[in-house]
Amino acid sequence: MTRNVDSVQERVLREILSRNAGTEYLNRFGLGGTTDCGSFKGKIPVVTYEDLQPDIQRIASGDRSNILCSHPISEFLTSSGTSAGERKLMPTIQEELDRRQLLYSLLMPVMNLYVPGLDKGKGLYFLFIKAETKTAGGLVARPVLTSYYKSDHFKTRPYDPYQVYTSPNEAILCADAFQSMYTQMLCGLLMREEVLRVGAVFASGLLRAIKFLQLNWQQLAHDIATGSLNPKVTDPTIRECMSKILSPKPDLAELIRKECSGENWDGIITRIWPNTKYLDVIVTGAMAQYIPTLEYYSGGLPMACTMYASSECYFGLNLKPMCKPSDVSYTIMPNMAYFEFLPHDPSAPPLSRNSPPQLIDLADVEVGKEYELVITTYAGLCRYRVGDILHVTGFHNAAPQFRFVRRKNVLLSIDSDKTDESELQKAVESASALLREFNTRVVEYTSYADTKTIPGHYVIYWELLVKEPNNAPTHEVLNQCCLNMEECLNSVYRQCRVADKSIGPLEIRVVKNGTFEELMDYAISRGASINQYKAPRCVNFTPIVELLNSRVVSAHFSPSAPHWTPERRH
Ligand code: AMP
Repeated sequence: MTRNVDSVQERVLREILSRNAGTEYLNRFGLGGTTDCGSFKGKIPVVTYEDLQPDIQRIASGDRSNILCSHPISEFLTSSGTSAGERKLMPTIQEELDRRQLLYSLLMPVMNLYVPGLDKGKGLYFLFIKAETKTAGGLVARPVLTSYYKSDHFKTRPYDPYQVYTSPNEAILCADAFQSMYTQMLCGLLMREEVLRVGAVFASGLLRAIKFLQLNWQQLAHDIATGSLNPKVTDPTIRECMSKILSPKPDLAELIRKECSGENWDGIITRIWPNTKYLDVIVTGAMAQYIPTLEYYSGGLPMACTMYASSECYFGLNLKPMCKPSDVSYTIMPNMAYFEFLPHDPSAPPLSRNSPPQLIDLADVEVGKEYELVITTYAGLCRYRVGDILHVTGFHNAAPQFRFVRRKNVLLSIDSDKTDESELQKAVESASALLREFNTRVVEYTSYADTKTIPGHYVIYWELLVKEPNNAPTHEVLNQCCLNMEECLNSVYRQCRVADKSIGPLEIRVVKNGTFEELMDYAISRGASINQYKAPRCVNFTPIVELLNSRVVSAHFSPSAPHWTPERRH
């Protein structure tokens, strides 16, 4: 596959275009029936989600005609990327599950090249399903991993000694986050000596599990000592399954109490799971901020980033999974979809319909350059901009390898949330309206993703202009401003806050007058142009964060959780 990238890609494109020849979408651009690459590139526009939204809306409303794809749409996958504050809806087809399964099936054979003996024990993975809804037309809408865990591919997978998990399906498939996590942790503790790898999808998820252990180890140890199950776990399928696993193990309970009761949690993962060879978590992209904390809890275990995927399409895998996080490159598998690359040059003018951009094929990208990923999928996305920026680091055979650089337009991210500059701006504007009756304005603001707390939280620095010091906004009003901002943020943020509890309450830190001028002086002293200087809307450079923190006059937190339901707001 990696030797014949060009021919595999050509075949994939031909397959997609011929089977979708009758779709409304391809015919709209005059392509129906033609399957050659030249016509495709000449006629089909490069699009974003917003361009496809009217078509997607029709599918969601129940139009079953062949709009984007000739195969029936089986469900919608809800991406963590949002549009107008709501998760993007990605139509998918049944057979895509096989393609995802194929990529999963490559992960252990690759890992086995570097870490032998993984068939001699188990993996402790914290895996969760999330809420699902139905669209007006009756299609299920849910995250891609929820779809996968609920599929027969996962539930009735054949026994494979390399893929034995400590978590029973009953726990993974329980929609209640507490009961699911509690049971998965309990099983992980019971089978501590068999555990060879510990993981979650993203680094933030694994840290949430450690925090959970910090909060619940006493009850967990009690259950292990007595062989009984916490009455808060009420799910009958879990209770039934745990009754077969649990029996009194006082020595194990004692060990857990001894390790967890200390103040020092340095290396807790290897103390509790002494045979762990590596952590299986994604720590590339926005997740890189968690590397130091994970190193602390794991006593420096290697972290394996095994794959690169999205709701739209699974892209590829890391062929050197034991490399350092900073060296991770993903090899895109040419059979997953048709891939094109938009050269990424931040200084270039925006794309226009009249001068179509020159896209590069997978086999032709150049080492050292950055590109935005554009995909054409079996499920009917055509020349769709994913929004990820990738850097070419080299080749495996003829297949290029990519470092994930970042997602476009993302300012703040703690878990799967992605907040962009305009969302933050809107939230600040809305919250600052609460200050009007106090004759107070927000003159400048910036933000910071604080991941020192678990869960992490958004910090918004405000410099205020208080015109009437006797009538300054009170602590309560500023707390309400925090909540007001959260209400304005997108639904993925609010779901993380409310359902997953993977983001803590938003914090506003009011800084002394003149702080942002100091920030500008600092930037200019480091070479920024005075004319072009703009206050950064997000900071993460330590000296700047320290400067801001040293000027804080008061801190305020959201007093309650914002609103969130699985249903969409519009
Ligand atoms: P979603 O559509 O919610 O599944 O999110 C998919 C997005 O998550 C991708 O487009 C990337 O921006 C990000 N992502 C997925 N895998 C990785 C990875 N291995 N490293 C960094 N970011 C990733």
